[in-house]
Amino acid sequence: MNLIFEISEHGKRCATIRTPDVKAVKTDKKYLRAEKPALPEVSEVDFSRHYTALSRRAFGVDNGFYPLGSCTMKYNPKINEEVAALPGFTRVHPLQDEKTVQGSLEVMETLSGYLAEITGMDAVTLQPNAGAHGEYTGLLLIAAYHAARRDFKRTKVIVPDSAHGTNPASAVMAGFEIINVPSDEEKGVDLKALKKAVGRDTAALMLTNPTTLGLFEKNIKEISEIIHKAGGLLYYDGANLNAVMGVVRPGDMGFDVVHLNLHKTFSTPHGGGGPGSGPVGCKKALAPFLPDPRVEKTEKGYKFVYGKKSIGKVASFYGNFGVYVRALAYITALGAEGIKSAAQHAVLNANYLKANIEDLYPTEKGRHCMHEFVVSMQELKDKTGVSAMDIAKTMIDRGYHPPTMYFPLIIHEALMFEPTETENKRTLDEVIAALREIYEEAFKDPEYMKAAPHHAQIGRPDEVKAARQPVVRYIKN
Ligand SMILES: *Cc1c(COP(=O)(O)O)cnc(C)c1O
Repeated sequence: MNLIFEISEHGKRCATIRTPDVKAVKTDKKYLRAEKPALPEVSEVDFSRHYTALSRRAFGVDNGFYPLGSCTMKYNPKINEEVAALPGFTRVHPLQDEKTVQGSLEVMETLSGYLAEITGMDAVTLQPNAGAHGEYTGLLLIAAYHAARRDFKRTKVIVPDSAHGTNPASAVMAGFEIINVPSDEEKGVDLKALKKAVGRDTAALMLTNPTTLGLFEKNIKEISEIIHKAGGLLYYDGANLNAVMGVVRPGDMGFDVVHLNLHKTFSTPHGGGGPGSGPVGCKKALAPFLPDPRVEKTEKGYKFVYGKKSIGKVASFYGNFGVYVRALAYITALGAEGIKSAAQHAVLNANYLKANIEDLYPTEKGRHCMHEFVVSMQELKDKTGVSAMDIAKTMIDRGYHPPTMYFPLIIHEALMFEPTETENKRTLDEVIAALREIYEEAFKDPEYMKAAPHHAQIGRPDEVKAARQPVVRYIKN
C-alpha cells in the first residue's frame, strides 16, 4: 500500500473553491509561511479509498472477537460516542469562565459521585489520564498522607508478584522502594511472607484484584488487617473493575485508595490509541490531598475548588473530558442493576470459555476465574514445539485478535483470555471450536503454525527490535 504522499499529484484536489469575488487583503509577510506546507494533493476518490483501505487493515472490536486479557476490549455502545460528540461538550474551552460551562462541570461532579459510590470511596479525582497515571497519583496521595503526619520513615511499597506490571513502576516513580511478595500455592498473596515484609517503613500495599491471573484474592481481610495494623495504607488497582463492579466495593474491603480505568470498564476502548482516564478514589483521610481543582456543587451552581493541602495538578486542565462523558452516559444508561449485570456476564463468559477449552488449554485447576483467565501452553510446546506465540498468530489467520501473550510472567507460555460481557454464546462457541481445532493442528502440522499468520498484512515483526529500535517514521526503501 502506498502512502498518501506517494499517490499525491500536483494540482489534484478534493474540492474546488471558486475564485473569490472580493478583493484580496494584503497580509504582512511576517504572518506568512516561507514555504508551502508539504500536504498531499489527491482527488476525493483517491482520498476516500486511501483511508478506507487503511481502516480495513486495522483490527478493532467492531471487526471481531478481541479477547486481549487485562485490557477489557468490550464493545462500547455507539450512542456514548454520539453523546460525547455533542457540540455543547466539544465546543467548550478549558479557559472559559465556569459560569458558562455549568453543564460540563455537572458531568464531572455527577460522574465523580457515581464512581465514589461504585468504589465505596469518599472522594474522587477524575484528572489522571491513564491507569498507571492513576496509580502514580494515588501513591502521591499516600506519600502526602504520611508526610502530613510527619511519619517520614514510610518509604516502602509492598507489591505482590501477581500485581500488574505498572504497579511497581508507578511506586518507583512516586519515590518509593519496592518490596516484592510471592504468591502462595493458591496463587494468592503469601501471608507468611507478607507478615515478614511489613514494618514501620511500610507506606502501602498495592493489590491488583482480580489478580493478573484473573483470580479473586481470597485473603483480602487478612491482608488488610496486616497492613493497617502496621500503619500502612491499602491501594486497590481497580483497572479490572469490570469483573466486580456493582458486586463488591474496594472501599468496603478496607482499601484506602483505588484507581479505575474508564478506558476499559466505562465505555472508552482501551488500547485504541485515543485518550484514556484513570480516576482515583480515596477515603476521607486522604481527600485533602487530591489533585486541584475538583468540582463542587453549591447553591449557586457548580464551581472549581482548590485544596490547601492538594498535591497539585497531575494533568493539563481537567483531564480527558470526552472520556468522562462516555462513562457518564454508560453508567446512566445501565443503572445500578445494569452495572452489576455487566460484571456478572463478564465473569460468566470467561468461565464458559475456560470450561470449554481447559482440557486442552490448561489453567489454574479447580478455581472459577473472574473476567479473565490465563492458560499455560508449556506442555503443548514440549510435545509439538508449537508455542503460545504460534497459537496467537494462528488465531489471527482465523479472524480473531490474539489474547495477551507471555503475561503474567509467573506463568510459562501464557495466554490470557478476556472475552468480556459483550460477546454472545454463538461467538464464544465459534471461538471454542476454533481453539480446539488449532490445538489439533499443532500436532498435525506444527511447521505451518510456526509460520503463521499466512493471511495477515504483517507476519512476524522482530518484537525486541521493534521495542528497542523503533522506527516511527516512514522511510522509503
Ligand atoms: C491496564 C491496567 C493498568 C494500566 O492502565 P493504563 O491505562 O494502561 O496505564 C494497571 N493495572 C491493571 C490491572 C490493568 O489491567
